[in-house]
Amino acid sequence: MVFFKKYIFWIIFIIGVIILCIICVKATEQENYLPLLGKVIVVDPGHGGRDPGTIYGTIYEKDINLEISIVLERVLSENGAIVYMVREDDSDLSSIYDARKKRGDLYRRILFIEDEKKKTDLYLSIHINWYKNTSWSGAEVLYNEINPNNKILGEILMKHFKNDLNTKRTLKKTDLYLYRNTRKAGVLIECGFLSNPNERYLLRQEDYQEKLSIAITNAVIEYFQTISNVASG
Ligand SMILES: [Zn+2]
Repeated sequence: MVFFKKYIFWIIFIIGVIILCIICVKATEQENYLPLLGKVIVVDPGHGGRDPGTIYGTIYEKDINLEISIVLERVLSENGAIVYMVREDDSDLSSIYDARKKRGDLYRRILFIEDEKKKTDLYLSIHINWYKNTSWSGAEVLYNEINPNNKILGEILMKHFKNDLNTKRTLKKTDLYLYRNTRKAGVLIECGFLSNPNERYLLRQEDYQEKLSIAITNAVIEYFQTISNVASG
């Protein structure tokens, strides 16, 4: 008992140090497991401000794009990525001096992605689809061949969308202005159809936005593993 009393301070001190060491090791391990650590990703919520995108009644594509993008920003960040948002509110990137507002908006999105200071590894444009046949549904990816990695990313994204979101859609090419002029790797993701009643509901639900963001993030993780294997193999 006397022995115990004499050394109680040191016993507690040593136990404390051991616990601290275990916490530090665990924290370091967890940090090492962040699969997107150091990757720079630009999330580009389509439309905004004066440009609503596709519309159903009072439901605007631009608002759903932003909602999904904010969830995606969080999920990517949780996996270690540095994320830049092209817009974080209901605004577009056109200037009052632009004769063609839509073109000005897209031009500044390209500059934002290509900005040397950011060292962008990847960009993801988030949009919602529309078609006159309301039975059409499902997420799909569009890419331009300007960067050979775009097709690799598109294929991996479609694989995850088929597995996790049950989409029947397929990978497509696009020649739209933003995608044919952006040299950094990236794609256009059409998250679903605003024209389809079921998806119109789903796309506005938080849990579906989360599910979609997790599918995209898992595909992005696989993409970086794939291109690093190609580079080293
Ligand atoms: Zn759109």
